[in-house]
Amino acid sequence: MKDTRLTFRRRHSYNTKSNKTRVVKTPGGRLNILYVKKPASVPKCGDCGCVLRGLKALRPCELKSTTKRMKRVSRAYGGARCGTCVRQRIIRAFLIEEQKIVKRVLSDQQKKGGKASS
Ligand SMILES: [Zn+2]
Repeated sequence: MKDTRLTFRRRHSYNTKSNKTRVVKTPGGRLNILYVKKPASVPKCGDCGCVLRGLKALRPCELKSTTKRMKRVSRAYGGARCGTCVRQRIIRAFLIEEQKIVKRVLSDQQKKGGKASS
């Protein structure tokens, strides 16, 4: 009977997360071990958690060597927040600023009114 047992091809001999393999059949009919890379996580929005479009899912070591164009989109909060969340942030900031202006105008009017009455 043919011995079909397989052993690791590298020196790392424990069945850990980083040492996952899959068995392939070579063109010669032998069984062989192929090392599987860890799956890369898809970039997600930091606010709502939805998947960010236009970015590559890469492992940290691959992210290090890839260009900036693969890691972000050309927008404020490009590779960190989705477009909807950025729009909400802009609107919220605008409304807060408007509220401040309204408050200032109202307080000015009250001051003027108070001086006129006294
Ligand atoms: Zn979002």
